[in-house]
Amino acid sequence: MNDKERFRAAIETLRSVNKALPVEQRSPAINAADTVERFAGELRRQSSVLKREIETTRNDLAEMKRRVNQGASELATQDQRAEEQRKEFEQSLREAFKPGIRLPSGARTDAKFAVIKAKCLACSLHFLLPTWDPERHTNDTLHCPECGQHDGAFLVWRDEVHGFIFELVPGRSQFIGHP
Ligand SMILES: [Zn+2]
Repeated sequence: MNDKERFRAAIETLRSVNKALPVEQRSPAINAADTVERFAGELRRQSSVLKREIETTRNDLAEMKRRVNQGASELATQDQRAEEQRKEFEQSLREAFKPGIRLPSGARTDAKFAVIKAKCLACSLHFLLPTWDPERHTNDTLHCPECGQHDGAFLVWRDEVHGFIFELVPGRSQFIGHP
């Protein structure tokens, strides 16, 4: 028998002894002990209700924490994806703004040629000359295809192009003349 059981048994004994007495001789202390025991029972019930509420709140908190963590990890994933997309976009912008002429096969072939670009200072025409041998073409060798000027009065530029001349000439152009 533990203390609690001994206490209950003692109260029970006192109670029966008390009940056996005439009403005027009954002990108010034993009535008070009854009240205390009822109140203690009420306290125990309230305590167990509070414990359940605490447990529920703790579970709710754990669930909220789990959701917050999940949200944070989804955000981190999205951030990373956005960062990768930004890098890809920047890379494609860099490619697009590189100087020079780009052909569809450019990145996939070792084939190269040059494009001579010229401005005729007599008639102001700008024109292109694709060539495998750019060293052969200078302002002294060029003829203006518009005015026929051949006095060296040209501004001249040069591009190295990755790809094939046939991608530029004819490329996908409309055919308009033959001998
Ligand atoms: Zn010209």
